[in-house]
Amino acid sequence: MRRLIFIALLLHGAGLSSLTAQQTTDRPNVIVIVSDDAGYADFGCYGGTEIPTPNIDALARNGTLFTDAYVSASVCAPSRAGILTGMYQQRFGFEHNISELPVAPYTQEDVGMDTDIKTIGDQMQHNGYRTIALGKWHMGDDARYFPLKRGFDEFYGFVGGHRDFFGYEGQAPSPELALYDNDKIVPESEVTYLTDMLTDRAISFVEANTQQPFFMYLAYNAVHTPMNAKRELLDRFSHIADTGRRSYAAMMTSLDDGVGALVDALKEQNIYDNTLIIFINDNGAATNNSANNGNLRGLKGSKWEGGTRVAYIMQYPNGVPAGKKYHKMVSGLDIMPTAVGAANGQRIAGQVTDGENLLRYINGKTKKTPHTELFWRRGIAAAVRSGKWKLIRSGDTNPVLLFNLEKDTSETKNLAHSHQARVKKLLRKLEVWEKTIEQPRWLSPYGDHNQIMKHRMDVIGRDMEQQYP
Ligand code: CA
Repeated sequence: MRRLIFIALLLHGAGLSSLTAQQTTDRPNVIVIVSDDAGYADFGCYGGTEIPTPNIDALARNGTLFTDAYVSASVCAPSRAGILTGMYQQRFGFEHNISELPVAPYTQEDVGMDTDIKTIGDQMQHNGYRTIALGKWHMGDDARYFPLKRGFDEFYGFVGGHRDFFGYEGQAPSPELALYDNDKIVPESEVTYLTDMLTDRAISFVEANTQQPFFMYLAYNAVHTPMNAKRELLDRFSHIADTGRRSYAAMMTSLDDGVGALVDALKEQNIYDNTLIIFINDNGAATNNSANNGNLRGLKGSKWEGGTRVAYIMQYPNGVPAGKKYHKMVSGLDIMPTAVGAANGQRIAGQVTDGENLLRYINGKTKKTPHTELFWRRGIAAAVRSGKWKLIRSGDTNPVLLFNLEKDTSETKNLAHSHQARVKKLLRKLEVWEKTIEQPRWLSPYGDHNQIMKHRMDVIGRDMEQQYP
């Protein structure tokens, strides 16, 4: 009899998904959407008015938006290494973007995310989730770093830090630019528009995995350069005179459309309520993509708020308050423990975690603050935020900077001289943290000079900031 009912349900698709699914409310799906180099002030829900982002705004309306959210680095790869592991990426020497400057005893093959480190994919697999990584990987070019070896059952994307959104003529110019469908290279003649292709693949993964909990890492390379936009969307923004900004607006629209299409697919499969969506941008507006950080000082690559403070939203109808803003400091490092926490899972033993399961905090299960301090370092420039205080240290020639972010979010008034005890205390905290991390296993081709220049108080205004990528 039970068997007959089961067969009847098999013939009746909707019944099947609700009764036989192994997706249960204590094991929700988790989707992490990463955008690339977007401006803090370019999302409607963060005050943007020029470029409509209705679908990302809807995540905020139906979920919780973080105002004081940070990534652990102001450039792509180390920020993502933090997101993917839940630990300060400098703990495994991943301080800089992927480069060709290994530091002895490390060699070029070592430039990537240490293979001993467990990723969020490993963690979710460990808890019985089916996992997929889509889009930009940027965790090392060597085969040992390939996503299929790093905790992901499926991969659809590219290994490097950027690529064209349209197809290259003939083959991709180098292996890290090639689009992979698992371990096979997709012919460039089949590349239509990458943002849309990532969305389509994300949706087909959702449709194929309604019967078991899944984890998706959807790392769009929008709105990173090159500024490739779809013609019809460029036409929609013809009122924007600046051509770079027009392309940016069109690329942002493709990204936002993708988020909307993915949410629609979750609704169609009746798994919307039982899916945690985490949206995060990997670092602030770049020097070269016409993104807008609003009133935040500095750009990608800097320790200013414009480098590390990002858009960050969590939506989960079954488990995150809707329409709320959360103002305490949170980090990209929190994504891994939050994902495992949502899954009511266990973390793989033996690996340090610097992040926190944010669900406990935003649901009011604890009155504590997730982080009393957050730290940053990339080469010569380092920073710490402790409560409202933010300190930037950038070499011996630049004076130490101290800001009160509560009164001065734009970091215009250096209070170091009048608060010397505070400076000393924060420098000490920074030094204590630095004892817990490694020296970089490889260097940045930009060297120290740009870091020193971009953290001078007299480097003011976007034109000046853009000179030091
Ligand atoms: Ca980036």
